[in-house]
Amino acid sequence: MPLQDVAERVRPALAGFEPYDPAFSPCEVNLSANENTHPLPATVLERFAQACATTPLNRYPDPLANELRDELAAWHGVARESVMVGNGGDELLFNLLFSFGGPGRSLVVAPPCFEEYKNFAKMCQTQVVEVWRDEQSMLPNADALVDAARDAALVMITSPNNPTGDLVDPELVRQLLDQTNALVLVDEAYVEFARNGSSLVPWVADNPRLMVLRTLSKAFALAGLRCGYLVADPQVIDVLAAIRQIYSEDVLAQAVAVQAVRCREELAPIVTDIVAERGWLAQRLAQLPGAVVWPSHANFLLVRLPNAAVVRARLRDEHSVLVRDFSYAPGLADCLRVTVGTRNENDRLMAALEAVVEGGQA
Ligand SMILES: *Cc1c(COP(=O)(O)O)cnc(C)c1O
Repeated sequence: MPLQDVAERVRPALAGFEPYDPAFSPCEVNLSANENTHPLPATVLERFAQACATTPLNRYPDPLANELRDELAAWHGVARESVMVGNGGDELLFNLLFSFGGPGRSLVVAPPCFEEYKNFAKMCQTQVVEVWRDEQSMLPNADALVDAARDAALVMITSPNNPTGDLVDPELVRQLLDQTNALVLVDEAYVEFARNGSSLVPWVADNPRLMVLRTLSKAFALAGLRCGYLVADPQVIDVLAAIRQIYSEDVLAQAVAVQAVRCREELAPIVTDIVAERGWLAQRLAQLPGAVVWPSHANFLLVRLPNAAVVRARLRDEHSVLVRDFSYAPGLADCLRVTVGTRNENDRLMAALEAVVEGGQA
């Protein structure tokens, strides 16, 4: 007998969700997912290979990844007890909502932003309060956010924001901490691409309701490894430690991540290059007819172009260049998000865009 009533059997809060679709198509140049496309130095790759080769796979991982926690804690000048590792930042976002959300509680977000906040909140039966950004500047509405956060369990602010690229004004975070009682998450998945001093990790020690999310997926070029971490008050970390999937961070991920954190100085020139390329690409994009490009502190640029969805399809089909389409998303009409790649990739993107846009009938 086939299973006919699965829709009635599934927990009501989980009905209607669809598998995540990254809208990936194989292309020669993939600038669609904000990955770091720069090749890593051979010395770093050698250390990763060595770490994998010497890690036994027959033993369970250390559930809390303490060696990695210590490495991250030393880097950020905090105690191990203030750091929690997750299977990507995504797992930590889910676990935050699982722990601190729930029926009768709400999450405040400032869209357009990372969609997962809302998805995870819904899965955890947490009400989502959306305080939309200004349509032109794409900056958050600070007063409305603080107002909404007064009754909220959680606020999630992204800095730099995906997909708009702006850094949060620290004054807004200050207000959220001082004028509300919410737990405030600042998602810094892209902060390594912003100017020095942009991270709010140093604030955590004096602000027990502040939590900062980081990841090795972007600047560290390890999106496939699945490793993110949270810096927060030890009491928050204890809650997350108690409810997490015990072995979500596998032994290879832990071993490679330890090496990656130790090698961070060797990876710094790659970040510097991406930041320089970002400036070059922003200027070139802005010269396209009818283009609007928002200032970005991350490794991607948001660009509004006439007929963006068609442009994006033609880049993919005629030029084998993949970028992310946001033109369907509320507040992002005709917007594409392009990851900053290597100079060669950025050249390919611009040549393709110029051919598509200037060839007319985009
Ligand atoms: C990429 C990203 C993350 C984390 O990604 P993981 O690969 O799960 O670590 C978190 N927040 C935002 C806004 C992102 O873009």
